[in-house]
Amino acid sequence: MAQASQEACGYVQNSSGQRVSWKGQLPVVIFLDPTLPSELVTSVQSAAQKWNSSAGKLLIDVRTVTAENFKPQASDGWNGIYWSTDWDNTVSLQQAITTIRYRGNMIFEADIKINSKNFTYYVSQPNSNQEVHMESLLVHEFGHLLGLKHLSTSPTVMLATLSGATIRDTLSDQDLGDLKCEY
Ligand SMILES: [Zn+2]
Repeated sequence: MAQASQEACGYVQNSSGQRVSWKGQLPVVIFLDPTLPSELVTSVQSAAQKWNSSAGKLLIDVRTVTAENFKPQASDGWNGIYWSTDWDNTVSLQQAITTIRYRGNMIFEADIKINSKNFTYYVSQPNSNQEVHMESLLVHEFGHLLGLKHLSTSPTVMLATLSGATIRDTLSDQDLGDLKCEY
């Protein structure tokens, strides 16, 4: 049966024009790379909490795992946050990339790769105006994980670029409205 297209509402759409999201398959359990510097863990947790508290339910469940149980990035239905030291030089300006995989209109995997080769991250006080606010970055990447795409009009956490030493970790009315279209 053909399915009707939908308004984007800020989401990636499949070839039939339907929004892709995790639908009822919640929470999204995602495992944290044990090599991620320990001081940044709370920033990641706090970024997930921003989306969870806005939705009024557990959407994103960030879990720690031992090194031997952390899986390399692959198309395997297992969600990971990767602290990546071997970043492709052709995209060295990219701070992170989130890959989602979906079938029909349902996401079944999301991996977040953080560029630890070309960027330095901070929790609350940058040591230079080049450093990237970890929580702001992860709020954005978790938006992608949920199915959201880039927006071009501020205020939103889904702007494509995050400048150094800039904090952008609060969901805007736009973001909250988009969130409610699927969650
Ligand atoms: Zn992005």
